[in-house]
Amino acid sequence: MRVAFASGKGGTGKTLLSTAFARALADREPGRVAYVDADVEEPNGHLFLHPEKVTTTRFSVPIPVLVDGRCRGCGACQRFCAWHAIIALRNRVMVLPELCHACGGCIQICPDRALREQMRSIGSLSFGTTGGLAWHSGRLDVGEARSTPLVSAVLESAPEGALTVVDCPPGTSCPVLAALEGADRVVLVTEPTPFGLHDLDLAIRLCRVLGLPHVAVLNRADLGDGGVRDHLAENDVPLVAEIPFEREIAVAVSEGRIPLADSPALKEAVERLIELLESPGGPS
Ligand code: SF4
Ligand code: SF4
Repeated sequence: MRVAFASGKGGTGKTLLSTAFARALADREPGRVAYVDADVEEPNGHLFLHPEKVTTTRFSVPIPVLVDGRCRGCGACQRFCAWHAIIALRNRVMVLPELCHACGGCIQICPDRALREQMRSIGSLSFGTTGGLAWHSGRLDVGEARSTPLVSAVLESAPEGALTVVDCPPGTSCPVLAALEGADRVVLVTEPTPFGLHDLDLAIRLCRVLGLPHVAVLNRADLGDGGVRDHLAENDVPLVAEIPFEREIAVAVSEGRIPLADSPALKEAVERLIELLESPGGPS
């Protein structure tokens, strides 16, 4: 079972809820739950989970480089690359590593075997444990533009057979698609503001396109307006729980604690999610 916590926009409380959910689940089933921080551009689950025995390894992707003296400037690689990541000039080529999607296609189609793979380090993968919960996280290097391969790698690093809780990147672009790969359920964390509504709508559409069962949790539910509730009802997306804006939550978060003991509303939201996700068929 893989449960992904997503949101159309950042700052809705996705990490708050996903860490609280993973913590509560691991307290019930120690040793069987993994928390995967797939928000590799800004991973922050560790600030609340405080993993121990952390191991970190570098993560690299293969990009093409020119083999000296072989290129005759036919331009086939440039024409092939859908991402405009390789430029052919007379008898040499220039690769733009930040744009390269590491598909290897240009290497395969080069008639003169003038390109080969070279590994390029773009970030790191970390693993650790915290009170019966496995913690897996990726971190993209500053200045790198493409996080998708690292998102996929951190997902693949999760132990097989674990109940996996995925903290997705915000938004609805390629890194989110990668983070939702293999998800059985999606929890959309949102807030009752016009921005929240706009980006929630995109996230709902994304789940529909991918055919992923999804529910919503409304954070800071006592602020803003009723637009989000109406939109969820119109789109038949179950609103599982509402968490009010609480000082106790803000204080605990600022101290790096998961506020399960501070906020009955958060605790209830997590319990309802666990109950729902354990029920046969889960959310529709
Ligand atoms: S396809 Fe090969 S030979 Fe042609 S321009 Fe690219 S690297 Fe050079
Ligand atoms: S490996 Fe793929 S994405 Fe990268 S330059 Fe070659 S064709 Fe383009």
